[in-house]
Amino acid sequence: PQNPECPLDKDELGSKTWGFLHTMAAYYPENPSPQQKQDMTSFFDVFSRFYPCEVCAKDFQKEIKIQPPKVDSQKSLSKWLCDMHNIVNVKLSKKTFDCNRVNERWKDGWVDGSCD
Ligand code: FAD
Repeated sequence: PQNPECPLDKDELGSKTWGFLHTMAAYYPENPSPQQKQDMTSFFDVFSRFYPCEVCAKDFQKEIKIQPPKVDSQKSLSKWLCDMHNIVNVKLSKKTFDCNRVNERWKDGWVDGSCD
């Protein structure tokens, strides 16, 4: 692993950013207000224009045009983000993640209790 006191490379930045994004989606309201829905849509729009990896940002902008953030509930947002992450996983020939288990990974911990 990289020296943690050095600037982030693309992979380090990626895994930390996914951690933030999935955790944010995990704590998005189950019944968001119209303002919260609008804000979350804007967040991803702005995020996709400033993410500090140029190829990543360009591709993410394209993907959210095709499939805009599903901001109707915590579950829909987390599922959408999981699908977006899987698109990147496929592009990088990484394993895809089972999106039925996204709340176990990022919110509640695995059902086997291994995070308790
Ligand atoms: P990561 O992919 O960073 O995943 C971190 C953890 O998230 C995994 O250990 C797993 O537990 C969990 N996870 C994996 N898949 C999912 C999922 N679908 N849903 C929920 N949780 C999941 N890199 C490039 O080289 N080219 C790109 O174009 C590119 N685009 C990116 C776009 C964005 C918006 C972001 C945030 C990152 C991008 N990256 C890109 C970085 C890349 O996605 C990885 O973060 C990086 O390769 C490090 O991978 P990793 O193996 O540490 O796991």
